[in-house]
Amino acid sequence: MKIICIGRNYVEHIQELDNNSNIPEAPLFFLKPDTALLRNNEPFYVPAFSNDLHYETELVVKINRVVKAIDEKFAGRCYDEVGLGIDFTARDIQRKCMEKGLPWEICKAFDHSAALSSQFVKLEELGKNVQELRFEMFFNGELRQSGDASKMIFGVNHIISYVSHFITLKIGDLIFTGTPVGVGPVKPGDHITAKLEGRTMLDFDIK
Ligand code: MG
Repeated sequence: MKIICIGRNYVEHIQELDNNSNIPEAPLFFLKPDTALLRNNEPFYVPAFSNDLHYETELVVKINRVVKAIDEKFAGRCYDEVGLGIDFTARDIQRKCMEKGLPWEICKAFDHSAALSSQFVKLEELGKNVQELRFEMFFNGELRQSGDASKMIFGVNHIISYVSHFITLKIGDLIFTGTPVGVGPVKPGDHITAKLEGRTMLDFDIK
């Protein structure tokens, strides 16, 4: 099982990261290994190697079949449930990587950098298309991120089609679809709660 993460998929988030907002021409993706998973609302321990560890709340799509080089118009058949995740990012290290044009694993793929909801919800149960979904993240009880999947630069079907032309997707693979505006640092003592269509999906401590 692998975790595919999309970067820079919401305009306002790109603007909060950069002064010059470079909108990608194609989905920007990177991978996290299965050792990055943090499940069951277990606490996230801030790693000692970063002084600017950020949360990024993201809609997560679970792949339900083997997918290779699929056309976008058929990509909707490859998933039927969604969850929420936090793409934890060592922003200080990421900035250095970007300056030097280096890969991102060191700032993105470390142990427990992918918090994942235990619960996944069937789209059928939500009664919505994936691009109609809304999610929210509350940081220490205060609303910090409001996600609206209709604002993704690249929609889920486009992402699946694009990625599957390079990498075969398999059952259980997870796609973190990018974060909306409102990212920020975490420190021990903080608490994260996230809701998908009003359902609490994540509820855990930062230690
Ligand atoms: Mg992210």
